[in-house]
Amino acid sequence: MPSLSEETNGRVDHLLPGATIGIVGGGQLGRMMALSARYHGLRVGVLDPTPDCPAAQVADFQVTADYADRAAIRELAERSDVLTYEFENVDADALDMVRDVVAIPQGTDLLRVTQDRVNEKRFINEHGTATAPWRAVDDLDGLHGAIAEIGYPAVLKTRRGGYDGHGQEVLRGPEDLKAVEESLTPDDPLPPSILEGFVDFAFEASILVTGNGRDFVTFPIVRNEHRHNILHLTIAPAQVSAEVEREAHELALRLAKGFELAGTLAIELFITRDDRVIVNELAPRPHNSGHYTIEACSIDQFDAHVRGIAGWPLPKPRLLSPAVMVNVLGQHVEPTRALLPAHPEWNVHDYGKAEIRHDRKMGHITVLTDDTARTVDDLEATGCWDDLRDE
Ligand code: AMP
Repeated sequence: MPSLSEETNGRVDHLLPGATIGIVGGGQLGRMMALSARYHGLRVGVLDPTPDCPAAQVADFQVTADYADRAAIRELAERSDVLTYEFENVDADALDMVRDVVAIPQGTDLLRVTQDRVNEKRFINEHGTATAPWRAVDDLDGLHGAIAEIGYPAVLKTRRGGYDGHGQEVLRGPEDLKAVEESLTPDDPLPPSILEGFVDFAFEASILVTGNGRDFVTFPIVRNEHRHNILHLTIAPAQVSAEVEREAHELALRLAKGFELAGTLAIELFITRDDRVIVNELAPRPHNSGHYTIEACSIDQFDAHVRGIAGWPLPKPRLLSPAVMVNVLGQHVEPTRALLPAHPEWNVHDYGKAEIRHDRKMGHITVLTDDTARTVDDLEATGCWDDLRDE
């Protein structure tokens, strides 16, 4: 067993092969974490309600139960040396309750900050980093006050639990505010929310940073294209000025130090036309926009995550080749599979999900290239992603 100490947030020193990493959540991020853990010689347990979920297919054991099931979290903890998670809506109190039996190198402060958009924005601003202007909103009066200060257009988001654009609304004018008011009932009042100024960004980007509690390394800044609020493409590297590049890396390191980060943290950014870098949100885990690192970088985000939580030294990630990553959603499975024989350059990842559903992330494809713009055109020209063309 690794030794635990409050001061080090449960950090471990060089977890050795043969030890077990327990992952709360068994989706594709857990699966790719598990694959990395496996070839480092670590064993893997997964907590997930779906039998034979993506991560369990490549793990040593699964505890099949709901993520919020405290007895199940304890079982996973008792059978593991180190605990991690693949999504941020984990019950932080439940994790704190098992710290007597397992190391949690990421700690739970990171979770508590990133689970709540108000705490997150406050943390980011306190660490010298720009966000959209924002106000916490507790009720309708608060919403009116926040609109008066921030103005239109603005984005109203729930403080907790939102993802991929769920739980958020763009307010372009008083008629949108009225529509929000009319949608509320005494039984269904406004949940605790945040109002953000609408950022007129040139494009969206992200940067990953990984720590082992002491040292921190950043990955290249990449450009992200969303469709219907779901990531569609990542282009690595993003074409940015030297100033944007420097600020993105520096802010990533500031946040990582602030969290005494262990493991991988994704930082979603807006890059404005006048070259400002604004943080949109944080994800305390590997991220869809970092999947390109598997083929394109000298160390990928999952290996870095595993090394970070295992207390291993971290090499500085280098981009070995520009790359384009495209998501394969449920509706893209058939067309992309049909074209596989014609595309040896496609690095195809399939997450092993039993049920194919529209807009469900089923896999992704990464193409290494010297010409990312042309590769994007080539991918779009296949017609596989035509359903996303209307935006
Ligand atoms: P989020 O759930 O915060 O990642 O938001 C989902 C998407 O909504 C982002 O990827 C942006 O495209 C858009 N968005 C969110 N917040 C803002 C904002 N303050 N200004 C402009 N666009 C936003």
